[in-house]
Order: sequence, then C-alpha cells, then structure tokens
Amino acid sequence: MSEIFLSGLNESQQKAAKHIDGSLLILAGAGSGKTKTITTRLAYLISIGIDPTSILTLTFTNKAATEMRERAYAMIGSNMSTPPILCTFHKFGLLFLKFYMSELKRKNNFIIIDTDDKKRILRTIEKDIPVAMLVSEISKYKNTLLTPTQVKAGAELKIYQQIADVYEKYENYLLKNNLVDFDDLLLLPYKILSNNEALAKETSGKYQYIMVDEYQDTNELQYKLLRLLCMTHSNLCVVGDDDQSIYGWRGATIKNILNFTEHFENTLVVKLEENYRSTDTILDHANQLIEHNRDRLGKRLIGTRAKGDSVRVYESHDENEETRKIILDVKKLLDSGVRGRDIAVLFRVNALSRSLEEGFNKAGLNYKLVGGMKFYERAEIKDLIAYFRIITNSYDNFSFKRIINKPKRGIGKTTVDKLEAKSVELKKPIFEIIDEFSPDELNAIVGKKNSRTLKVFLASILDLKDTLEESKMRFLDIFEDTFDFRASFENLPDGFERQANIDEFYGYVRDYFIQNPLLELDNFLNEIALGTEDTELENEAISMMSIHASKGLEYKNLFIIGMEEGFFPIVGDGSDTEEERRLGYVAFTRAMDNLTCSFVHSRFYKGKRTSLLKSRFLAESGLIKGSLMIQQQSSSYKKGDLVQHKIFGMGRVQKAVKAGKDFKLTINFGGTKRDILSAFVEKA
Ligand code: ATP
Ligand code: MG
Repeated sequence: MSEIFLSGLNESQQKAAKHIDGSLLILAGAGSGKTKTITTRLAYLISIGIDPTSILTLTFTNKAATEMRERAYAMIGSNMSTPPILCTFHKFGLLFLKFYMSELKRKNNFIIIDTDDKKRILRTIEKDIPVAMLVSEISKYKNTLLTPTQVKAGAELKIYQQIADVYEKYENYLLKNNLVDFDDLLLLPYKILSNNEALAKETSGKYQYIMVDEYQDTNELQYKLLRLLCMTHSNLCVVGDDDQSIYGWRGATIKNILNFTEHFENTLVVKLEENYRSTDTILDHANQLIEHNRDRLGKRLIGTRAKGDSVRVYESHDENEETRKIILDVKKLLDSGVRGRDIAVLFRVNALSRSLEEGFNKAGLNYKLVGGMKFYERAEIKDLIAYFRIITNSYDNFSFKRIINKPKRGIGKTTVDKLEAKSVELKKPIFEIIDEFSPDELNAIVGKKNSRTLKVFLASILDLKDTLEESKMRFLDIFEDTFDFRASFENLPDGFERQANIDEFYGYVRDYFIQNPLLELDNFLNEIALGTEDTELENEAISMMSIHASKGLEYKNLFIIGMEEGFFPIVGDGSDTEEERRLGYVAFTRAMDNLTCSFVHSRFYKGKRTSLLKSRFLAESGLIKGSLMIQQQSSSYKKGDLVQHKIFGMGRVQKAVKAGKDFKLTINFGGTKRDILSAFVEKA
C-alpha cells in the first residue's frame, strides 16, 4: 500500500523518497519536485511503520510547513495519534526552549521580541550608531556564536568595540527582562545542547529522521544545530538549490549545501533534472537569466511541459499605470473563472506594495499580503501585546515602559526613568519593585500620586493573572473593564479603525483559546511573534508578497512588478548582483502558466519621484532585445586570448564561460584578476 503514493514520483524522486537510513542530499533546480519528494518521503516513512514523532521536518516558512502537512496527510490520512513534527527552524527552537530553558537558569515564560522591539531596545542603549548596523552586526555575531567578549577581543576599529559593548548590554537586557530575539531561538537551543551531552544524545535519539527543505538558505548556526541533532545517527535528508540561495545577507551560507557530502559521510546524492512546474517558455527565460551568474554549480533544468504562452513585458509611465494594467489583467482572469489563489504579484522591495494595495482596495479585489506582519505592527496592537506580555511575564520592563501610560494615567517619562534607575540598581524588574516596596518607599521614589497609580496598576495586573488562570474566556472582558483600552480610542481621528483592529485582535485571542484549550497566553504571544498563517480565511485571495516570501511557492498566473535598476536588482553599496539574480530566478520560477514582468519609467519613492531605467534582468533573461549598454558581440573566447578593456587596458583571458550570447571572462589585467562580460572587451 505504501507504494501507491510513490507512483506520483519519477525514478530519481522515488529513489530519494525510499532512502531510509543514512544521509541524503537532493540537489536540484526550481520546480523539480524537491519539496514533493520530501513530503512523499515523510508519508512513506510513516507508512512503513516509523513512529511519526521521531520524524522532524524543518521548513523555512510557516506557510511551507502548513502546505507540506496538508499534502502528507492527504497521502496517509491525518488520523495519527501523534503527528510528525513539521515546522520552521525557529518554531522548533521555541518548542525546545519551552522545555529546556531552565538549563540556562531561565524561566520558560520568556517572550519573543520582533525586529521592531529589537530596534527600540538598541536605540535606548546606543543613539549614535545607526540602528540598522547594530541589528545586523549583533545578529551576525549571534549566528556565528561569538560572545560579546570575543567580539571585543577581535575588534580593531573603535566602532566595533562600541558595537561589542552594545551587544553586551543588549544581551543583559534580554536576560533581565526574560526576552528572546529570533536569533536566540536557534542560538539558545544550540547552547543548551552543546553544554549537555546527555541531553543532546537524548534529543538526537528522539528525532531519528530529520529533513530540511531549502537547505541552501541555512546558516552556520543551523548547520551546527543539525549536527547536534544528528549526533546519534546520520539520517539527515536535505534538499536545496544553489541557484535559489537568497539569504546571503542574513548569514545563510551556500557552503552548507556545497560541503554537505563532506560534513556527512556516505551521503546519497540525488539530482533531479526535470522541471514540472513551469511552461518551457518561462523556464527558458529563467535559465537564460541565471546563466549570467558565475558562482554556481551550473545545473540546467529540462522542461516537461508544453511551450506555453510567451512571457509578457509591461512598460508603464509610472506606478499608477502599472497598477491599472495589472488590475485589468487580474479582473480578466477572474472573469474567465481563474481563482484568486492562482494569482500572485511579486516585488523585490516591500514598499512597492503600497500603490498596488491601494489600487486593489479601490477595485474591490480580495488580496492578502503574504509574510507581512503588518497587522501586528500597528501601534494599538503592539500595546495590547505589551500588556499581555506583562501579564504573562512580569520581568519584562520593556513592555512595562510601553504601556504604563497607555491609556494615560499620568505617569510621565521622569517617573519611568526613576523606576528604571531603581530597577537597574536593585537588579529587579520594575514590576517587582512596585510590588515589594511599601507605599511609603515607593512615594520616596516617584511621589505620592504616582505611587498610588502604580500600586493600582499592579493590583490590576495581578488580578488579571488570576483571571487568566481561572477562565481564559473571561479574561478579555475583565481586561477591557479594567483598563478601558478599547474605549480610550473613542474620540480620536482614526479611532474607528483602531478599535476595529482591537476587536479583530480580541477575536483572534478568543479564537486561539477556543482552538487550543490547553495552551496559555504566552503560547499565543510567541506564535504571533513567529508569524502564524491563517490560510483558511484567505484561501481565495490574490497573493502579494516579496520575492523572499515567495520561496518554494508556485502560482499559475504571476506578475513581477518593479523591474527597474535600483529596485530589482537593488544596486549600490552592499548589494550583491549575483544574489539579486538568484532572486530573479526564484521569482521567474514561481510561475506555472503565465508570467508578466512589469517596469515603469518613474516611481514615487521615499517622498520624491525618481526616473528609472528598466532592469538589466529583462535583457539577460531574453525578454527584451539588447540592453542598456551591452552591444551585440558574437565572437568566441577561450583561455589565453588577449583582450582590451576601455579602463583596465590589456589583459589575458584565464577562463571563459558561455553565458547567453556573451562569455563571462576571468581576465588577468597586469596581475589583477577581474570578472568581465565579453561585451565589454575587444579582442586585441
Ligand atoms: P522549489 O525549488 O521552487 O522549491 P521544488 O523543487 O521544491 O521547487 P516542488 O514544489 O516540489 O518543486 O514541485 C513543483 C511542482 O511540480 C509541483 O506542482 C509538484 O506537484 C510538481 N511535480 C513534482 N514532481 C512531479 C512528478 N514526478 N510528476 C508530476 N508533477 C510533479
Ligand atoms: Mg520546494
């Protein structure tokens, strides 16, 4: 019986799905069935009697996990008493920490902070260094397992010394407030496991079969964590595509996939060479585009589908015209019976969604913004979340400060500063100080009126803690009765909208408690921090998302907007053209039947209108003829040829690789090696 669902796979896919013991690497291009293969493998393992709970499948997004679960259950039925664990790396980290946080002498009612919280905390610690730099540096340190002391020891420039200081303070702050950031969800489990061999063995023994989708986007820390999880066996199966590695900027390292066979002995490597997703035409343009990258293993996918319609290129005056064209097309598609879920619009830069959203709203089109945490980023919702955090974890000074005067209760910044200073001095959370200090002692710090207000606030929170334990269903009503939070938006200009958001949020919380009677408020908070998907409601909506968020997904009808230099590819400081091109490849290969690429001559962006040139990717993928500067060049190149470059002068070709109509040349110019497209040189 177990063979039935295997018949949906081709020979190589079957070989991979039926491989049981030992490490396995499936290395293959987009749409070749990697995800389908591991989903089937999951079903296969269960069908031959392997305990579902001993199988751990890690994905990159919640959406991917949900889809995989649905597909696996469709093969084997969902009536297992204990289902397999299928989630993102971060979610797995969270589940693990809920059990083992005590190993680090920390309580397990910690709260996850998001990027926005992280920035606020960092800004309070250090004002002069750009916060984006602090965020990315600290994240880098954590993901490469560097402690503040190690960073300090290695820092030569003063600025890095300073950042190391901030890093140290930031870590202390998280510890004191019992907060964890996204990186901690990987880092802390790693720390726990690497310091406790017995626990590591036990954990590894528990997860006998591990699978990882999108392995090309894992980082060093994830690799190390996987190593620990595999310490008692080598049943690790990973799938990936070097051409789709798009998280280099976040520390993901393609080395993980390139060195897999060295990391794990006796690996079976399976290559999949057919693409089942896209029409031949779409695939051909995607292939042409990615061939301009030098740094790749150089797979080429063969199509299995018919030629299909040609890829359309839309040229518009500005974003309004672009939106109008797309809306017209979308309406036509819907009128002809196409479902909203089969349509998606992708963009490289998130800000481009604004005019699109506006247009879709006006046109009354049902859409969803995938991967955006927009709802939870709204101020009133963040306030509520801060309240709930205080109720579940009173160590959280950060949340305390956010809401102590919301709604207004006369507690100003000076009072908060005094409380904070006391909290630092006594190494105690503010909440505990308010609790433990007598009214007189508290008077002495903040004055009589404030002291009374704080004591009342404390009592309310403690009452709510009790209510929460007694009846989760009554909790929200009592919360509202106590603080009049919703009512406080009554007469504000945008009060109506905010109250609607609050109602929606209360609705979510109630629903969560109904669906998960055994879970607590902190589970809810952590799940929203990780961004759960509620696909149910939105199944029929048209999707809009960044290319990053579209990884692994597929749509019958796809639009890619913003194909202009500067927007896609992003150019300039710190940008990586090869990674941008991989993003292009990811974007193109999401399309199954129809692909439309759109560019405009100008966009309103960051407060001003800017003129733009069309993306080089349009020419590179063969969608338009010629390009901005590249002239037709038909001569052929080989190692040893002498060439002349306008700026670098005479050089000798060391390596020549065919790339579309051109050659990618590695040229030695008087001792300096440079990679140059043949269109930019002449034979000498
Ligand atoms: P990506 O790199 O984008 O994540 P992938 O390699 O994971 O792609 P899948 O999403 O697993 O590819 O498969 C792409 C599409 O091809 C899916 O619609 C899948 O159902 C279909 N497919 C995969 N293998 C086969 C097969 N052997 N026969 C028919 N269809 C297949
Ligand atoms: Mg996939």
